[in-house]
Amino acid sequence: SKPVVAVVGRPNVGKSTLFNKLVGKRLSIVDDTPGVTRDRIYGKCEWCGHSFTVIDTGGIEPNTSDILLSQMRAQAQLAIDAADVILMVTDLHAGVTAADQEVASMLRRSGRPVILCVNKCDTVGEPPVEFYEFYNLGLGDPIAVSSVHGHGTGDLLDHVVSYL
Ligand code: GDP
Ligand code: MG
Repeated sequence: SKPVVAVVGRPNVGKSTLFNKLVGKRLSIVDDTPGVTRDRIYGKCEWCGHSFTVIDTGGIEPNTSDILLSQMRAQAQLAIDAADVILMVTDLHAGVTAADQEVASMLRRSGRPVILCVNKCDTVGEPPVEFYEFYNLGLGDPIAVSSVHGHGTGDLLDHVVSYL
């Protein structure tokens, strides 16, 4: 069966938008309301002769930060158990949050290949200074992506297939 790439991250960082860009169809639900993706959604992606399955993890409807954190731990654990490569998505405008740090540390300890995407980098060229804060997550070089415009997704996919 095909390798699996799981997209994880906090609600509203743009996981479903990225998923839709990668699979090329609007198979996932995008909404301004955090946590609107109700179920995991699977799609197929092809890049440079590699074919793999992408999972949009979601289904988080947090009412409190405790619930958010416990759901995010569950989401990250699912990705660790099921995925060959994990895409951790963060939001340039939100910066690094406590929940990002928690998930990053789980992913780091798992030893799985993790690619850190800083989403919402909508301007082309040198990333803004806020981008560099994401190095603090200890997941290597972050990749600047704009899931809405598609900037950086080729670079991201090059990294994905380098692990397959
Ligand atoms: P999810 O909860 O992580 O799945 O996030 P969604 O994909 O549903 O997106 C949440 C919001 O962020 C929506 O309003 C998207 O249009 C917006 N968004 C997603 N990607 C980008 C991006 O690259 N740039 C900007 N400016 N907004 C984005
Ligand atoms: Mg979603």
